[in-house]
Amino acid sequence: MPIELYNRQGHSCFMFTDLCDEGGDVVQSNQFLIVDGDTGAIIDPGGNLAYSELYLAMTRFFPPQQLTAIFASHADPDIIASLDRWMTTTASAKVYISRLWERFVPHFCKPGKTTGRVVGIPDAGMRIAVGHSELVALPAHFMHSEGNFQFYDPTSRILFTGDLGASIVSGNDAKLPVTSLAGHVPRMEAFHRRYMVSNKILRLWAQMARRLPIDMIVPQHGAPMKGAAVQEFIAWIEQLPCGVDLMAERDYAVPA
Ligand code: FE
Repeated sequence: MPIELYNRQGHSCFMFTDLCDEGGDVVQSNQFLIVDGDTGAIIDPGGNLAYSELYLAMTRFFPPQQLTAIFASHADPDIIASLDRWMTTTASAKVYISRLWERFVPHFCKPGKTTGRVVGIPDAGMRIAVGHSELVALPAHFMHSEGNFQFYDPTSRILFTGDLGASIVSGNDAKLPVTSLAGHVPRMEAFHRRYMVSNKILRLWAQMARRLPIDMIVPQHGAPMKGAAVQEFIAWIEQLPCGVDLMAERDYAVPA
């Protein structure tokens, strides 16, 4: 069962947390459905593990064949490896992904399947209509992918952050929004130290994020953050050393 993150006046956001929660060898991940009136879009629909379950679970809220847009934060397997099947399911949905990956994602598909259906998002980001609402593709490069976007929904004031804000929890625990950051940091820290590229990037992001009214930060792995946890997360991530900040000679030694 998905959780309803928002539902008001014909605009709703759903989060699926437990579609490929097999424990152990697969990282828990979230998929998202945005419905505005009679228009539907998905964000980070996942890989082949999630496809059938997401398709079925979604039918209660929106007919999957009628989706008009597929948003991908970046090009990793848990984000978009199911693209071939979504291209078939939806006759004409466009896939929005960084221009850096525009010519890479066709590798997930059978020849010709993506022709004319990939929209490369420029580095500066863009605004994309979803029914009468819009999603803002926000630059989030190097967090962690080189060409990376987050999706901000001004109607629900939800920021879908992709890998930023990810926590390592079970599909069930991912359903429970975190309202205070302190106890949550241990579930996020190791991931961010290794998967985020540098503190400079995190500081630039924090500056941008503070300019937006954000009610909820919803990552692609783990639990959403809301209430006080939103600003606490921005402050925490802003000061976190990570990625190249922590790399040294010892990390580039030829294995014995
Ligand atoms: Fe990734």
